[in-house]
Amino acid sequence: MAKYGKGVVSVYDMPHEYERKTLDGSKTIEEGAREIPVVREADVIVVGGGPGGVASAVHAARSGAKTILIERYGHLGGMATGGLVNIIPNLANIYGEHCIGGFCQELIERLYARDGACFPPKEVWGKGNNEYVDKYLKANMRHFYVRKDKNDEDVVLYTAVVDPEIAKDELNTMVLEAGAELMLHTWVTSPIMEGNRVKGVVVETKAGRQAILGKVVIDCTGDGDIIRDLDIEKIDYMRPGSRIAQFGWVFWICGVDLDKYDEVNDADPEKMKEIFGKIMEEGGRPFFSRGLLDHQKGVVWLHRLIGSLQQTDPEEMTYLDVEGRKTAVKTWELMKKYMPGFENSFIMLSCPQLGTSGGLRIIGEYYLDENDLERTEPFEDTIAVFADNDRGDRSLVNPKAYVPYRALLPKGVEGLLVACRAFSSDHEFSEFFNLIPHCMCFGHAAGIAAALAVQQGIEVRDVKYEELREKLLESGAILP
Ligand SMILES: Cc1cc2nc3c(=O)[nH]c(=O)nc-3n(C[C@H](O)[C@H](O)[C@H](O)COP(=O)(O)OP(=O)(O)OC[C@H]3O[C@@H](n4cnc5c(N)ncnc54)[C@H](O)[C@@H]3O)c2cc1C
Repeated sequence: MAKYGKGVVSVYDMPHEYERKTLDGSKTIEEGAREIPVVREADVIVVGGGPGGVASAVHAARSGAKTILIERYGHLGGMATGGLVNIIPNLANIYGEHCIGGFCQELIERLYARDGACFPPKEVWGKGNNEYVDKYLKANMRHFYVRKDKNDEDVVLYTAVVDPEIAKDELNTMVLEAGAELMLHTWVTSPIMEGNRVKGVVVETKAGRQAILGKVVIDCTGDGDIIRDLDIEKIDYMRPGSRIAQFGWVFWICGVDLDKYDEVNDADPEKMKEIFGKIMEEGGRPFFSRGLLDHQKGVVWLHRLIGSLQQTDPEEMTYLDVEGRKTAVKTWELMKKYMPGFENSFIMLSCPQLGTSGGLRIIGEYYLDENDLERTEPFEDTIAVFADNDRGDRSLVNPKAYVPYRALLPKGVEGLLVACRAFSSDHEFSEFFNLIPHCMCFGHAAGIAAALAVQQGIEVRDVKYEELREKLLESGAILP
């Protein structure tokens, strides 16, 4: 079970048992060498259009590099849109100090202007405020929006919720406006290597296998697909039962009469508990949070979390998608039958991408480990400052964490940066700091660094921190 602050309950299923049919490697075949067309050449290739990837591509292109962003699906946003995990948390620390600016803040402001984001007003960040505390607790959002301060009082956090559909459109706009080229429906299978230098990537598309060449590649696949087969130092340990050691199967139900639900719940909470118990007994998973956007009244989110220590095995992913969907529909059927307010509801949307939260990571030029959670001084090459992601009392003593540029730099390979969940970190650091805003910060820095390296004809590891820092500050990052 993930260890969070007081009052946070994390409900998820432990690793599942199923009959495994595949057959790791009993037989092999030889794949013959063949010529494939080089369809593009660029300065910077960003692989993966999730939170890390879009920030990388936008900032590489805005910094003047010829940039291509490659994404396997037909939309951008990764888990934040396709995984339906659309909460961008901990943008200020528990004392209300704003920590995450740059790309992340820009996206939130752009979405807010289109009614595609909501968040509490600045005056209440880090403060007790009954109206907002009640609103977020009722929505079942304690972990993300409400936390205990040192007097054991509930305070409100700066966290944003975004509309995934508007976000997909806005992210396309940001990437194209910046001047990057976007290649959707393009699956990167491997890096192209020359010695220990990454020279591009091989992709599979409906038009066949193709090559794209570049001077710098940024791995933003979340799962570390570019580093997977490289002979470099890496790690994939995840503690069983932790937040990152789990899949997520998320779906939304709409048309819920939450006033009716509240009436029954307020009048007779025991009866509601019984209803939850009955649905659980019959095989449903009815715990839900409420959509917070004004135009999403009557929408509830169900996040089914399923423990797994390896989130890239297609056999397990197939099993979970089938099983996850079955349980989701069953859950809705039972809620419709037993839960007041759900009589006229329907399943509005299920996650287009199975939720993956952890896995392969580099052991880079700096390896962030659990001791860095206790660090009080920034690094000499700090590229991001994060508000602590609820480590209970530790968050009160140590409300910020720092990330150095070196955590994006793999060892023993040139022309490569990692700006996603696969950044250089041990299990504990990753558990708290691989979320959407964090990956956006990695991408913001990696995009600028890649462009600087290309313009100056130097290795990404030789980019001067002072120049990177200046450009990060100019583009809205909040640094020490
Ligand atoms: C159930 C669940 C709940 C979560 N809740 C939250 C939350 O509330 N708030 C929060 O901030 N974080 C949350 N997270 C974590 C967060 O979503 C991720 O940590 C974050 O999205 C990581 O961003 P990323 O860019 O590293 O990777 P991803 O979001 O995984 O994006 C990777 C992108 O790369 C693409 N890609 C992958 N491989 C390839 C390839 N080979 N070729 C081309 N494209 C490829 C993918 O399609 C995807 O678009 C949650 C995660 C899960 C699973």
